[in-house]
Amino acid sequence: MKTEKKILKDYYVSMGISPEVYDFCTDIEDTLKDRFREVDEIAECNQMKVLAAMRKNRLSEACLAPSTGYGYNDMGRETLEKIYADVFGTEDALVRQQITCGTHALALALMSQLRPGDELLSPVGKPYDTLEEVIGIRPSNGSLAEYGITYAQVDLLPDGSFDWDGIRKAINEKTRLVTIQRSKGYASRPTLSVKQIGELIAFVKEIKPDILCMVDNCYGEFVELTEPSQVGADLVVGSLIKNPGGGLAPIGGYLCGSKECIDRAAYRLTSPGLGKEVGASLGITSTLTQGFFMAPTVVKGALKGAIFAANIYEKLGFTVIPNSTESRHDIIQEVEFHDPELMQAFCVGIQASAPVDSFVRPEPWDMPGYDAQVIMAAGAFVSGSSIELSADGPMKEPYAVYFQGGLTWEHAKYGIMMSLQKVYETGKITLS
Ligand SMILES: *Cc1c(COP(=O)(O)O)cnc(C)c1O
Repeated sequence: MKTEKKILKDYYVSMGISPEVYDFCTDIEDTLKDRFREVDEIAECNQMKVLAAMRKNRLSEACLAPSTGYGYNDMGRETLEKIYADVFGTEDALVRQQITCGTHALALALMSQLRPGDELLSPVGKPYDTLEEVIGIRPSNGSLAEYGITYAQVDLLPDGSFDWDGIRKAINEKTRLVTIQRSKGYASRPTLSVKQIGELIAFVKEIKPDILCMVDNCYGEFVELTEPSQVGADLVVGSLIKNPGGGLAPIGGYLCGSKECIDRAAYRLTSPGLGKEVGASLGITSTLTQGFFMAPTVVKGALKGAIFAANIYEKLGFTVIPNSTESRHDIIQEVEFHDPELMQAFCVGIQASAPVDSFVRPEPWDMPGYDAQVIMAAGAFVSGSSIELSADGPMKEPYAVYFQGGLTWEHAKYGIMMSLQKVYETGKITLS
């Protein structure tokens, strides 16, 4: 064994990984070179895209200075929004810390574009859990339903494809906005590729050209060479404590889209008449901008971690979604354990490998809004950040853990090895 390799193995062993687990995992890593090269190439392209936008928009040191109060003429905020717009290929963007999270960004998008009497359509099945209250699928204060905005849904077919006939029938004179969730979130359906999203948008617009198409882009940014806004989406929406914040953004959300859509969203976020003109940066612009600069590289590490985990747990006989060889359209990896003890062991390992709160042991708890107990592992610099290494899932069949993130590939690798270590220590699996 070469000296560096031996030192490395000694390190892992001293950090709690047994030699058997180490060898099992590194043998799998050795088979992934081609896969990882592809991921590297996508990240390289996306890094160029971001860098080009920063150069074109003349990002300067002065942009990184704070503004206070109303925040009029905040050059840094305006430049960052131009950079986002260029990277996503849109006319305009709204990138703000006043958008508190992904759900808020999506609610803002829906509430700003829809008017009483309009209908919202999801042609890809049930949207993300938190949107149920925004839409009014579960009654809630201030939901779209309370404003007389109706909702229609067409589920994906059992094989995960679009129900073209159903979608055609669901579109009517009231249909104003179609919402498309790119990532599977916490469902077991496949994540949509940008290409599939483009086909869906083209189909919808052919039936009714003035329909707005919005994409919930959470967890998808920089995974592929293009974004949904480059295949016809009028609006793409996401959270800055996921992919595009690069692990540095401590808060925020973004909307990128046509000038009209962004104007409407800005007037809803602040006030009619004020729109994008207000919103002091309070010194956060430099972090948001640096995070966006880092994002392609951070997403690369997270993607490698997801692929590594899929290959390890599939080899051990567990169902993994996506599977070990499928192409990737988001950073989420699902592993089905069908066993609460193994599921908890996985989360214990992820937590133990974290830079923050590594001494904490995750336990299932009764989280509001869920019908089963939920277990979560997260030791993050930014509270709740899921671009950092994290895992969670409901304690019920199929005892599936959803795993994502990792600010560096090296950390994701150690975290996954540690998860396997804890699973191995239950004595319920053999490494072969
Ligand atoms: C995370 C996520 C959201 C909601 O974001 P929060 O920041 O948790 O409010 C919405 N949709 C999808 C697909 C997500 O992954």
